[in-house]
Amino acid sequence: MPRIATILIDGAASDLQFDYGLPEELADRVVPGCRVRVPLRNRGATGTVVAVTDASEADPAWSGKLKPIEGLIDQEPILTPSLFAVGDWMSQYYLASREAVLRSMIPQAARTGEGAEKIRKLVVLVNPPDEDGLVAIRKRAKRQGDLVEFLMAQPERQAFLAELTGSELRFGRPTITSLESAGILKVQDESVARDPFGDEEFLPSDSLVLNSEQVEALSRVVAAIESKEEAPPRPILLRGVTGSGKTEVYLQAIQHVLDQGKSAIVLVPEISLTPQTADRFKQRFAAIQKEVAILHSHLSQGERHDEWRKVLRREARIVIGARSAIFAPIRDLGLIVVDEEHESSYKQETVPRYQGRDLAVVRGHLEHCAVLLGSATPSLESWRNVMSEKYELCELTQRIDDRSMPLIRVIDMKMESRKMKGGPAILSSKLRQAIEIRLAEGEQVILFLNRRGFARSMLCPECGFVAECPHCSIALTFHKEEDRLICHMCGHGRVAPKRCPECQSRAIAMAGYGTEKVEAVMRQIFDKARIARVDTDTMRRKGQLAETLKAFKTRKIDILIGTQMIAKGLHFPNVTLVGVLNADVGLHVPDFRASERTFQLLTQVAGRAGRGDTAGEVVVQTFTPHAPAVQFARHHDFVGFATQELELREQFRFPPYLHLAVITVRSVHKERAEFSLQTLHRRLKRHLPEGVDLTEPLPSPLVRSHDQWRFQVTMKSTSARRMAKHVRGVIDGLTFPEDVLVTVDMDAYNLS
Ligand code: ADP
Ligand code: ZN
Ligand code: ZN
Repeated sequence: MPRIATILIDGAASDLQFDYGLPEELADRVVPGCRVRVPLRNRGATGTVVAVTDASEADPAWSGKLKPIEGLIDQEPILTPSLFAVGDWMSQYYLASREAVLRSMIPQAARTGEGAEKIRKLVVLVNPPDEDGLVAIRKRAKRQGDLVEFLMAQPERQAFLAELTGSELRFGRPTITSLESAGILKVQDESVARDPFGDEEFLPSDSLVLNSEQVEALSRVVAAIESKEEAPPRPILLRGVTGSGKTEVYLQAIQHVLDQGKSAIVLVPEISLTPQTADRFKQRFAAIQKEVAILHSHLSQGERHDEWRKVLRREARIVIGARSAIFAPIRDLGLIVVDEEHESSYKQETVPRYQGRDLAVVRGHLEHCAVLLGSATPSLESWRNVMSEKYELCELTQRIDDRSMPLIRVIDMKMESRKMKGGPAILSSKLRQAIEIRLAEGEQVILFLNRRGFARSMLCPECGFVAECPHCSIALTFHKEEDRLICHMCGHGRVAPKRCPECQSRAIAMAGYGTEKVEAVMRQIFDKARIARVDTDTMRRKGQLAETLKAFKTRKIDILIGTQMIAKGLHFPNVTLVGVLNADVGLHVPDFRASERTFQLLTQVAGRAGRGDTAGEVVVQTFTPHAPAVQFARHHDFVGFATQELELREQFRFPPYLHLAVITVRSVHKERAEFSLQTLHRRLKRHLPEGVDLTEPLPSPLVRSHDQWRFQVTMKSTSARRMAKHVRGVIDGLTFPEDVLVTVDMDAYNLS
């Protein structure tokens, strides 16, 4: 009987599916999830098989003489049936096209098929031009400028030749050759199987003897892993204070899974996927080191591809990675661990917008496997699921060896700045004294400030002028090293003015301050101390973060200053003092999660103190010492905070009591964006289902970004499905002008 394969074509903006005939010789090898080459409008195209069906000769589809599939890209399907189901769920729930969903599930190199070959041509930017150089290249040839910029944004500043010349990017060979002869880039063969940990030896670490709370937690996870019930096991939330040994529970649960002949996925936030974290897993499972795959964005294209292939070939039994590792094509899944489940980096902010933690729960449900979510400060979404008994709760209430929780002192900076008169109040006298004492004892200090750069913005005290980005409606940030003002949204930069552009006053000055300024001030005050700074400005080079953290661990650094890059997951026994320089950053922003985020951050940062034998101390500087987030964090009272905050959320109808979707319409033409949103709003309002709320159309808080005007409506509903269905129906029935982009962000995190 002739067979028909339905193919989802790669690279189309909205889903394109066509039926093709299956040639005899491929008939039993082509199954859903296979990657194929097909003819399309006199050209070739690639795509993914989404269904295979039988058809009788009389079938009109067949009698129309379908074109046959040309061939297979990979011999085996590269998606498992359950990943297919996850993909379907995603495209419905998040209103993303299936093509975009598949694209996010499969690494670039694997999709082009180039990856299957041993030798790949790699294009490496060996001589990155400076800004003027780039302008010069652009003037000469725009595409060359595009290519250089593309490469600059890639990990390791490299990409596969096939990817660059492929149907999505379409860089021509002449573009590449010209840049090569100018000595700016190099094309080279990349053939060796790259193992990102290839040259490292791991000494096996033994399982530790668990304390009684850990034993209890492990036994519940084991029960879930072994569950033979018809219904999938309930996800388990492991709430354990920082340093309570959650990771040890993960490790032993994974060991149990392996003993059962099954496999595991561990998701960690990108930011804490430091070598330290990866090493702990590599060490425990040193005996099967080759079977541990690491997937994250700091790997080069080649490395990532190799790790992913390893999973596909069933050579890996443990996958550790950032959010997209939830798509690892691993089989016989026994356990999914989501560490620091509250972390916002699990939310993907580009299409397809998804929440990796939630997908872990969905995939776990589909594969009937255990799901373990761990955190010291669970998200209110997960906490509510515990309250409603959708999730099971396990708690680790004590730090290992009963080390005490650090003492947290709150300093009112309003008083301090009155004492200081002029200049930003960076360091209170109490914090200064505390640092002096710790340094004298030979102990180490972490200073935390969640804002990079030298100062927040440039502000004129005479006329109130604030230097703003011309493309985004936000203030520019001053970077001292380059003496430039830079936009943190779009990267626009310009030379910092010496006089106010509005009133010519020379009093124009920095408002607020960033980590760079802190470093300068600290070097002045503590001129004998060894000081290092960790933020995205100083840690651009691969390996730099690891080096700095190692130097800190081996006590070659006394004071570490940093942004949230140092807030989480790190373990430094000799750190006895943590200073939070400005707890208000992020507290007074128009976002219903501001308080939750601040509570989490303060708790996590505080958790860095006193992880060794000496008790820890935390000093929090703030202009609003009575804010609940500050006060509950000070008393290490998660439950108190969550209870109060959930009451507020329920009262004001916010998540987790409702699902919230933000629909944004963007265009370079202001009127067209506004008008399109109004049309969309009118249609949404018509036949609005019961229990779905819709706001009036409004400019986005960030009304202009990357030259695009942005307008939005927000929807709320207890039923995400009902809301999604309605929105999809409306959007599918409308056509928008070419330059208008409509995006839907279901369960949005970023409201701007
Ligand atoms: P968390 O992940 O909750 O922050 P960790 O798993 O990092 O905590 O544990 C903190 C420290 O305690 C680590 O150095 C770890 O090796 C150690 N540890 C964990 N469990 C035990 C145990 N049962 N006995 C002794 N040490 C332990
Ligand atoms: Zn900008
Ligand atoms: Zn002025």
